[in-house]
Amino acid sequence: MGFLKQLDVDNFKSWRGKQVIGPFKRFNCIIGTNGSGKSNVMDALSFVMGERAATLRVKHTRDLIHGAHIGRPVSTTASVTMRYCDDNGEELNFCRSISGDSSEYRINGRQITLAKYTEELEKIGIVTKARNCLVFQGAVESIAMKNPKERTKMFERISQSLELSNDYDRRKEALQKA
Ligand code: ATP
Ligand code: MG
Repeated sequence: MGFLKQLDVDNFKSWRGKQVIGPFKRFNCIIGTNGSGKSNVMDALSFVMGERAATLRVKHTRDLIHGAHIGRPVSTTASVTMRYCDDNGEELNFCRSISGDSSEYRINGRQITLAKYTEELEKIGIVTKARNCLVFQGAVESIAMKNPKERTKMFERISQSLELSNDYDRRKEALQKA
């Protein structure tokens, strides 16, 4: 299985200019005092996977540019590159850059549409719409508060077995009626 090597950030949220987060190990733990930027690491990861602004704790995409939170953005652009090492040891670079509120997506430097980008992420097991890789602050409580039925549905959605399970329910119902 491949792994995330590092994130290259450029004027993204609390990182001014070009900076490197990582290199990561297979298991990583981020520690730091309140407000030191731990959640911003998850935001950088979500951002490069194509998440929309609201999930990244800002109103507009342009608010993600360093300094924008105090009304003083240092640039009109920002970017995050995810360096991913695949099963064969080859590096794959997924990059999202923003200019104001508009986003551009690149894989290994080649610009592509968000749909194609998402498709390529799915090939390495990252299903962005399932939001399977990230549990955001506050989400732990909401998961704990779910009833067993809701929790089962959530895991079915994450594991992409919801359609299979719906199909099974339909067949079970049909057989019970017969
Ligand atoms: P906690 O322990 O409270 O959850 P945290 O370590 O997760 O804190 P974050 O929420 O990741 O902290 O980071 C908050 C910091 O990020 C704040 O200090 C804020 O000033 C900074 N920040 C957020 N957006 C920007 C931005 N656009 N430019 C510069 N700094 C930013
Ligand atoms: Mg936090």
